[in-house]
Parts: sequence; structure tokens; C-alpha cells
Amino acid sequence: MPLDMVVCVKWVPNTQVVNIDPRTGTLIREGVPSIINPHDLNAVELGLRLKDSYGGRLTAIAMSPPSAKAGLEFLIGMGVDRAILITDRAFAGADTLATSYVLAKAIERLMPVDIAIFGQETIDSSTAHICAQTASWLKLPYIYYVVDAKLGDGKKSIVVRRVLEREVETFELPLPCLISVAMKSNVPRPVTLSNKIRAKTEGLIEVWSNDVLKLDVNCIGLKGSPTVVSKSVPTPVVPRKKLKFEGTDPAEAARWLLDRLEEEGVKVV
Ligand SMILES: Cc1cc2nc3c(=O)[nH]c(=O)nc-3n(C[C@H](O)[C@H](O)[C@H](O)COP(=O)(O)OP(=O)(O)OC[C@H]3O[C@@H](n4cnc5c(N)ncnc54)[C@H](O)[C@@H]3O)c2cc1C
Repeated sequence: MPLDMVVCVKWVPNTQVVNIDPRTGTLIREGVPSIINPHDLNAVELGLRLKDSYGGRLTAIAMSPPSAKAGLEFLIGMGVDRAILITDRAFAGADTLATSYVLAKAIERLMPVDIAIFGQETIDSSTAHICAQTASWLKLPYIYYVVDAKLGDGKKSIVVRRVLEREVETFELPLPCLISVAMKSNVPRPVTLSNKIRAKTEGLIEVWSNDVLKLDVNCIGLKGSPTVVSKSVPTPVVPRKKLKFEGTDPAEAARWLLDRLEEEGVKVV
């Protein structure tokens, strides 16, 4: 049975050096070298493997500044069928509640969808809130830390496995459902030349502003975000130090290390 799937991906700063908007306390994203959140490539790969096995279509969705178009082209280069870039000043500064609301409304607009796939978390704020929040807006069953998935016997469900610290769990979820994929759980496939050409020539990326979604401005962006950044303080970068213990006695080495840690202000109990 062909599957109609969506995968949500975030466009994140590809740098440790980011500036905070002193007025809103949120990240200044435009003009910052950015990439598709690396953990979302594992979500894309799982979606493409399901498409390889059962056929169907995989649509990527990103709520991001216009510059994310380059990232969505990359995903089409991997084999994603089409992409939706949700971009509008009205969505800027959104916390997770406002972000998940917009993503849920975008997925609702694409319904019927069999599976909504998310990454485990992002590398910039990594709250890991979005998946569960989007699932609750859409009232979809949800499992996180998924490492692989296959269709259930009745073709009305999927069977997923997830790896926890000491065990592997298997769940069967009725379709439609929402899953988040464990980071590093697969090796994302490379882009192909033919797909890259498709990404550049076939107009496979739709751009949706709020004129398309028509959402209440009080529910989106900074206005729709109950989380208020009261203060943001850049953490000082502590220069790395290389120290070498010259002796051979393990007990002496342990004593030496504790002394060095205390010198650095580490409270040794
Ligand atoms: C340093 C920092 C700290 C923050 N702290 C908070 C906070 O405490 N509470 C809060 O509500 N907001 C917070 N935010 C805002 C939050 O980053 C945004 O709301 C963001 O869009 C979603 O949260 P996340 O990056 O943590 O996503 P996560 O919940 O970690 O993302 C999980 C998955 O959801 C999908 N996803 C996430 N964002 C998008 C997107 N924009 N488009 C498409 N798919 C997406 C991806 O598949 C991703 O792997 C913070 C932002 C920064 C930069």
C-alpha cells in the first residue's frame, strides 16, 4: 500500500556563534550560515526507506526563513518528492507551542497523511517538545526514538522498534500516526545528480505564507508564544587546557587529577 508521508525538518544555524536579538531575546537567524538539522536527515532517511518498500510520496515541511529553500532542495536531492516552505515574518520568534501549532495546521492542510515523521530534537535549542505537541494538536498516536518501521499485516498500522538504554521495544500504531526518529539511527543516503536536477528544474518547493494558512496572528510567532525569553546570557567559552601526568602510579595519578580539578574550581566530594 503506497504511503503518503510528511517529514518536518528545521533549518538551524550551522555555527556556534549566533547573535541574540536584544529586543526579543530570540536568535537572529536570517543571514546566518544554516543547514537542515542533522538529526532530521535520519527522519528523512526512514521516510525514504518506507517509500522504497511500499511506494507513495514523501513531503518535507519546514517553518523557517526563506533561506531554507536551499536545504529543502538538498532533501529533494536525497529523493524527497516535494517540499513546503512555511515562511512569513508573522511566524518569527515562535516558541515550541506556536511552532507546533503551525506545523499541525500545515499537516492538516495536506491530509490525508498516513505518517508524520519528525527528528528526535534540534541542535540549536533541542527542547524535543515539537513532536509530542504536534501529535496532540492533531490528536495522533505518537512514538519517539523510533529506529525502524514497517507496515502492519492489515496495512492499517505500522510496526516500529525503538531502542532504549537496555531494551528494544516494538509498538504497533494505527495509521495515521506521528513518529520521531532516534538520532544517528541510520545513515542518510547521499543526494543523486538526477534528483538535484529535479530539485532545480521541476518547481517542487511550494512557499506558504500566513496568507495561505490564514492562522490567527495571536496564535503564531512571538505573539502566540507563551514562553518569554526574560534574559539570555552568552556562556563564556572556556579555553581548553592540555595537562599531562608524568608519573606511573595510578593512585598518584588520581591524586594529581583531583588536585588539578580543584585548581579549576571543581568541587571534589
Ligand atoms: C537556545 C534556544 C532555547 C529555546 N528554548 C525554548 C524553550 O525552552 N521553550 C520553547 O517553547 N521554545 C524555546 N525555543 C524556541 C524553539 O527553538 C522554537 O520554537 C523551535 O522552532 C522549536 O523548538 P526546538 O528547536 O527545540 O525543536 P525540537 O522539539 O527539539 O524539534 C523536534 C523536531 O521537530 C521538528 N521541528 C522543530 N522545529 C521545526 C520547524 N521550525 N520546522 C519544521 N520542523 C521542525 C524537527 O523534526 C525536529 O527534529 C528556544 C530557542 C533557542 C534558540
